[in-house]
Amino acid sequence: MSQGAGAPPPGAEGAASRPVGTLPKAHLHLHFTGSMRVETVRDMAREHGLRLPATLTTDYPPLFDASDQRGWFRFQRLYDVARGCVRGEADMRRIVREAAIDDGAEGSHWLELQVDPTSYAPFVGGITPALEIVLDEAAAVSRVPGAAQVAVVVAASRMRHPLEARTLARLAARYAGEDAGTVVGFGLSNDERRGDTEEFAAAFGIARRAGLASVPHAGELLGADAVAATLDATTPDRLGHGVRAVEDPRVLDRVVAAGVALEVCPGSNVSLGVYDVPEDVPLRRLLSAGAVVALGADDPLIFGSRLAEQYETARTVHGLSDVELAGLARSSLAASRAPEAVRAAAERDIAAWLGRRPAAEVVSPGARRPGGTPGTTGATPLG
Ligand SMILES: [Zn+2]
Repeated sequence: MSQGAGAPPPGAEGAASRPVGTLPKAHLHLHFTGSMRVETVRDMAREHGLRLPATLTTDYPPLFDASDQRGWFRFQRLYDVARGCVRGEADMRRIVREAAIDDGAEGSHWLELQVDPTSYAPFVGGITPALEIVLDEAAAVSRVPGAAQVAVVVAASRMRHPLEARTLARLAARYAGEDAGTVVGFGLSNDERRGDTEEFAAAFGIARRAGLASVPHAGELLGADAVAATLDATTPDRLGHGVRAVEDPRVLDRVVAAGVALEVCPGSNVSLGVYDVPEDVPLRRLLSAGAVVALGADDPLIFGSRLAEQYETARTVHGLSDVELAGLARSSLAASRAPEAVRAAAERDIAAWLGRRPAAEVVSPGARRPGGTPGTTGATPLG
């Protein structure tokens, strides 16, 4: 859902604001189907002779009513429709390619794209080829100038049997790596109110022993108790969302003490009615408590806002300064599995974004990073 694109309020750096789209960052919470451009899902539907609901055509983007208890189910139905349009290798490659290019255009240097290969397996001969297609395209697009480098998080669904999660964890383990085009994490997604988190502990054990990051969803549709249960069962490196840890200071303390990063997705939270308005997303409270926060877009296809807009919301709604936004970007890299070379390059570019390099290097248009876009206002005052 589109929000936060207005002018910065007084005190939020005003004219000193730098464009968030050129702030180097990592994107750690983006789902495969949900990453699609709306034009892409329309193309696929046309090609496969499928009908899309008006919310993906004439009435796009869909508007969710935060007070609507059925918000999640409406979301899930739309997501299923979009997923049903993905029917083979060419579609899958297109999704990975466009996700990397679109992310790169918003300053993302490193994307950890979350995919459950089960959904696409019937069209390509099984979960193994499904994952291999995604990894192969991830490796290929990562070499394209300006695109984000893409690694993969294999995600199991809470809606399915925990044994399936173990199968996926073993598959993910076989492709574990540290670079673009490899699997770097294992997740657990879908309706948090379904399934028993503890029953997925064995799958996370398999993933962890293979060196993968544990990145389950928790603390989105359910509160702090669910976060605590997820900490116990999966010893996560990061939590998808995790925002509702704020509802119990003891749980939030555990999250902070364990250094578990939170993939906070403000646009998604408001669209799904986790919070009524953007101001209610507890970004400031999480940061004040010392939590490591990495902003994410979750499902831009459904929610209508991409990664840079989450940073824009942090600025315009939560009043984060450019220095604080740069801190969020650094956190996203720190919480990622990006290789050292990617982190170091991004760190240099963040410093440049903040204007810490000699003025001549930053001010001169010729000195900008390839693909970088000068501030739209032309105002990038240096401190
Ligand atoms: Zn998610």
